[in-house]
Order: sequence, then structure tokens, then C-alpha cells
Amino acid sequence: MAEELNQNMTDLWVRTLARIREEMSESEYSAWFSRLRFADGKNGKVVLYVPSAFFRDGFESKYRTRVEKAMSSVSGSPWTVSLEIKRDAEKQIQQATVIEKPQERPPVNQKSVREKKSNVEYMLNPAYTFNSFVPGENSNFAYSAAMAIAKNPGSVYNPCLIYGGVGLGKTHLLQSIGNYLQQNSDLKIMYVTTENFTNDFIQSINLKTQNQFQKKYRKVAVLLMDDIQFLQKKEGIQNELFNTFNDLYDTGRQIVFTSDRPVEELRDISDRLRSRFARGLSIDIQPPDFETRIAILRTKCNEKGFTISNDVLDYIAQNISSNVRALESCITKLMAYSQLLNKDISLETAKEQLKQIISSNNDTSSVSLDQIIKSVAAYYNISPYDIKGKSRGQSIIIPRQVAMYLCRTMTDYSTNEIASEFGGKNHTTVIYNVQKVQSMMKSESSDMANTITRLSNQIKQESRKN
Ligand code: ADP
Ligand code: MG
Repeated sequence: MAEELNQNMTDLWVRTLARIREEMSESEYSAWFSRLRFADGKNGKVVLYVPSAFFRDGFESKYRTRVEKAMSSVSGSPWTVSLEIKRDAEKQIQQATVIEKPQERPPVNQKSVREKKSNVEYMLNPAYTFNSFVPGENSNFAYSAAMAIAKNPGSVYNPCLIYGGVGLGKTHLLQSIGNYLQQNSDLKIMYVTTENFTNDFIQSINLKTQNQFQKKYRKVAVLLMDDIQFLQKKEGIQNELFNTFNDLYDTGRQIVFTSDRPVEELRDISDRLRSRFARGLSIDIQPPDFETRIAILRTKCNEKGFTISNDVLDYIAQNISSNVRALESCITKLMAYSQLLNKDISLETAKEQLKQIISSNNDTSSVSLDQIIKSVAAYYNISPYDIKGKSRGQSIIIPRQVAMYLCRTMTDYSTNEIASEFGGKNHTTVIYNVQKVQSMMKSESSDMANTITRLSNQIKQESRKN
């Protein structure tokens, strides 16, 4: 299994993939190499998992020898490749394509490969640029802020925190800043995941190289730090980050963080570090609306040189709403299929092929009224019975309105159905309350819009677990 592979092997495989990737188009690479998984490698023999017999035969005739050659030339000793069918191989796409997505939290065995090389070239994914990012209502602000930072680091928004749910483009934007600066400036840039930073720190303690560690992070002009939610509960590292932060900040260097939640919701973070994070600009990325999803899908198809009919695009955009990575996976999957069979994708085929991706991402259809009421009650620290009940106390009314609003917008239930869930109220009450929340969301003196975002993300997450 990939997790148990030793570091040299992983390193070799990663470099082999990089070599192969240079030799072919992006679409060819993603059709074949993002669908297989490294299973095992030792004594000059490599085993790769492939998703089907059909894929195996295609790969066998087209690529096996090429992989053997590339691997042998990268390592300087001969390698043979054998293929094994493993139906879930594709689920592991993210792991197999470390090169494609170096921003991902790497599987345990790959950490050290990356730590060894802390040069920014290795860490940044060149595909993550402002050009390849499709902004929409949901991400305009984050997009422009990231751009402003890239053009003028250390002066405009410092520090900056970009937060939002999984797969919404935080890493993409963060790395776009890095890529832009790499192209357009001589500034020293550091992109690091919180996990890398942590491991680096721990290693420096073990090896007694703390000085070097500090120098490494404090000499940069721009620090891009991904996924600070993983800092939770780690005090030593928080101290170190606090000091690094102060040092950079006081000397006008730029710091950009990402996180999957707003600063206030980071748990177990020391107050002083929290106050540092909160000091600058904090911007969220929301899930894209339908039009933006279509625009993203089109862009991804164009990039890969893949044409797909409008009804299939619509189908995908309608069924996947809160994760751009999942949109992308749909395209990759259909494209591989279309290339393998050498034919266009009909809506029927698309439905069949995408069943799994869609059902594991279908966030709204799985949201229940019960779940909404439960989450809202927990958020306001009252009981679900109060929300459904008749009390007109101020501390209950707002939560009840919020719950009704979320029931209306996150599910397909009618106002009548919702009314009966709320202790048999009249459906006009539901309509009134929904409007009430809508107007609060527009009001500048209210934090309602943020509350709704937070709650709906939380509800989606909870629903996915069930
Ligand atoms: P996050 O870090 O928020 O979990 P990523 O930045 O890794 O998400 O994005 C997931 C995938 O979706 C990446 O391949 C990224 O290129 C793509 N992506 C996300 N948002 C957009 C966007 N607005 N336009 C184009 N691609 C996007
Ligand atoms: Mg990310």
C-alpha cells in the first residue's frame, strides 16, 4: 500500500511521473496517469493498480514500456512494471497525482520528500494561477484581494486570511499569489502547508537546528501558509508561528493564510495568535452559484481540450454545488471514459459514470429538516424543542427564523411542509420569517449573512457524515 512505501520509492515514483508528464499533453496525462495508483515497488519491480481490465489492456499496450523506461532512466537501474486491477484505484486519484496537486495534505510517506526541498519552485503547482481561476460572485472578493496582494505584497492587506469550505479554491488562490510573484518579482516566497511547517519545526528540534529553521522562515518576503486549521492544539508550534509572524509583520513582509473556517471558529488556538490572524483582512470563499459552476466546467474542459455537450454540463452543475474539486473530477472522469471508448459522452452515459461522484457530493438532497433544526439549536445554544415550539422570547425568535430560512433554502420542502415541522404553524409564518432573515442578511448592521454561511456549511458537513 502507498502508505507503507518508503520514501525513496515514493520519490522515485514522483519523479517518474514528472518525467512522463513532460512527454505528453495534459489531457493525455490526466486520462491515464491520474487513474492509476502506485501499489508497491521493490527489487526492480513495480506494481500499479488500475481501475478496470479495459483500462489495463489499454495501458499495457500504450504506456507500460514507457513507464519502465522512464523509471529506469530516472533511477539508473532497470525496472519492470506489472498492472493489477483494483476497482477503487480511482478513488485514490489525489494520492496518485502528487505532482498535480502538491498542495494537498500529502500521504504520510511523502512529507519528507517535500520537506527536503523547500525551494518554492517545487512547492508551487504551476497550474494554479490567476488566469486559470474562474471568479464568480462567490469568490470575487477573495480573487481581487489575492491579486492586489500579488501586485503589491506587504502593503495592502496584511495579513490576509482566505477561508472557506473544502475544494473551493483556497489553495489555488494562495498559490496564484506565489506563482505571480515568482514570475514578476525577485522576492523570496515561501509556500508551506501548516503540516509542513509543523513537521519542519519538530525536525528542527530533534536535529537541534532551530536557528536554521527560524532563518528559513524569517528571511522570506512573502509567507503563504495553507490550512491553518491544522494548527489546533499544537502549542509549541503556535508559539513558533507567533514569533515568525511578528518578525515578518513588523518588517512589512506579506503573510497570507488559508483556513477552512473563520478565525473565531478555530479551536484551541492561543489568544495571542488568534489576534494576529484577525488583525488584517479576512475574506471568505463561498460555493459557486450555478452560472459560475458552468463557467468553471467550461474552462476546465477548454484547458483539457475536451468537448462536452451542454446538457451534460448542466447536469453536472446541477448536481454538484459545493465543491469545485468535485466538478473537476467529473470532467476528468468523463474525459477518460470518452478517450478510452473513443466516443462522445451522452447524458445517459454521464449519469451512469458520475453516479458515485455525485452521490458522495450531493449535499442538499441529503439535508434533513431535523438536521437543520438540530444544528441551529446547537449554534444558539438552545434546545430543538424551543425552535419548534411557540415561545416568542427574543432569544428564540431569531434562531427559529434562521432555522426556517435554512429549511427553505437548503431543502426542497414546501413552506407548508416546513410549517408543519415547526409545530404546525401556518405557512405564511414561514414565508414571513424567511423574508425577515433575507432582509437581515442585506442589512449592514447585522452579521446575519455570515451566520447563515457558517451554519449552512456546518449543516452540509454534518449531513455528509450521516
Ligand atoms: P481548497 O484549497 O479550497 O480545498 P483547491 O484550491 O485545492 O481548494 O481547489 C480544488 C480544485 O478546484 C483545484 O484543482 C482548483 O484548481 C479547482 N478550483 C477551485 N476553485 C476554482 C475556480 N474558481 N476556478 C477554477 N478552478 C478552481
Ligand atoms: Mg487547500
